[in-house]
Amino acid sequence: MSTLYIDGRKVPATGGQSIPVYSPVTGEVYAEIARGMPEDIDLAVKAARSAVNGDWGRMSATERGRILVRIGNGVLANIEELAEIEAKDTGKPIALARKDIEALARYFEFYGGAADKVHGEVIPYLSGYTVSVVREACGVVGHIIPWNYPAQMLGRTIAPALAMGNASIVKPAEDACMTSLRFAEIAAEAGLPAGALNIVTGYGREAGAALAGHPGINLITFTGSPDVGVAIQTAAAVNHVKCVLELGGKCPQVVFADADLDKAVPVIVGAIIQNAGQTCSAGSRVLIQKEVYEDVITRVAAKFREVRVGLPETSPDCGPIITKAQFGRVNQFIQECKDSDLPVIAEGAMDNDLPKGGYYVRPTLFGPVPRDHKLAREEVFGPVLAALSFDDEDDAVALANGTDYGLVASIWSENGARQQRMAKRLEGGQVFINCYGAGGGVELPFGGIRKSGHGREKGLLALDEFSITKTVVSHHG
Ligand code: ADP
Repeated sequence: MSTLYIDGRKVPATGGQSIPVYSPVTGEVYAEIARGMPEDIDLAVKAARSAVNGDWGRMSATERGRILVRIGNGVLANIEELAEIEAKDTGKPIALARKDIEALARYFEFYGGAADKVHGEVIPYLSGYTVSVVREACGVVGHIIPWNYPAQMLGRTIAPALAMGNASIVKPAEDACMTSLRFAEIAAEAGLPAGALNIVTGYGREAGAALAGHPGINLITFTGSPDVGVAIQTAAAVNHVKCVLELGGKCPQVVFADADLDKAVPVIVGAIIQNAGQTCSAGSRVLIQKEVYEDVITRVAAKFREVRVGLPETSPDCGPIITKAQFGRVNQFIQECKDSDLPVIAEGAMDNDLPKGGYYVRPTLFGPVPRDHKLAREEVFGPVLAALSFDDEDDAVALANGTDYGLVASIWSENGARQQRMAKRLEGGQVFINCYGAGGGVELPFGGIRKSGHGREKGLLALDEFSITKTVVSHHG
């Protein structure tokens, strides 16, 4: 029977209902998960609060860090099993799933090591006073995570929260829960006390909404679509709860005439193809300086045609799209682009004999895309790359920054001064020079502006998000 994980135990959902889980590889039901309800969120909040008020909350930072490091080791010890669960649940290539599990472990190593290195401050103040600023846990944190990188997202959001001594309630995406449920057992075996981590599976509109609007929560983190980000922020506002939101992007890869194309082209294609384009930081727009547009696009197209879509276990470049709903959205987007006579420059190759019901999409490179076209501005969240051209640096900046999003950007140029000028002017949370990707790099602060969200995750900065300061003023004369 499918279960939730609350207070260190596997428990059925209070309503006793379950949700079917579809395999993206075949489109058939292969498992079920428990349908968590608001009552289950209540139970999880109670368990988390007891953990915060109990041994977990009182534990030394060193001991917490040790537990986190042991969790990371536990993940690595089970890497093959976890990667297989992740690949089966999401349809992603097994090699990518393995990297994701490694990243999950890295989050626990990194934040485990950081747990006892968060120092406060002493502020010089009036004579006769000593003032210190200490960092404390927020308390109970709700984490609503998406289906594109279930394992990585889990590590990214709960490892810094636990490092600071918070207790977590995770609502994984209904389409991709399996890894987090198995992970909870590994964390318990590593010594994480009951209640410090709770997993409530279920629908967003039920369990997710109940978590976002729960008065017993002190902080919400969410990664997902901008619309749901608004719903979550609105629900949290009623209780005056802070939100950290990461909501996607339309990330530009800016290629200047002086770029080293041998280096750039494979990375440009990889930045959109990874995880079948279902990556918030996917490099979904390639912006090319006018005088080299034809040359660059010819080379990008040749690489794009080599992209292979196949079964996860054959380690293709792209597996299927993870959910049926997203499969429909990506297909519709591609069809609309074709119907609007947008030129298709290149398509990837589909392996023969892919299961009929699976969610396979042919990767597509469109261009030149007019600046006001939907594909130039809206996130597809699939393996679709838009090519556009620009005149000079000013034009590149206007084009790159000209969407509602601002998450990640890259610059391809061999001119050092230009690299620095562009890095200053491109808007978003990360800029890459002659490289691309936030996927690894647990050490690197990450987050967006505008419709891409707000707050910072990853790196040491995340520890600020998952804690609050208290200023202690002592008058001793
Ligand atoms: P998608 O539509 O592509 O599935 P979402 O942004 O809807 O992406 O989903 C991301 C996460 O948000 C999932 O865990 C989902 O269950 C959850 N979710 C969806 N709607 C809500 C909501 N109204 N309140 C809270 N969580 C939600």
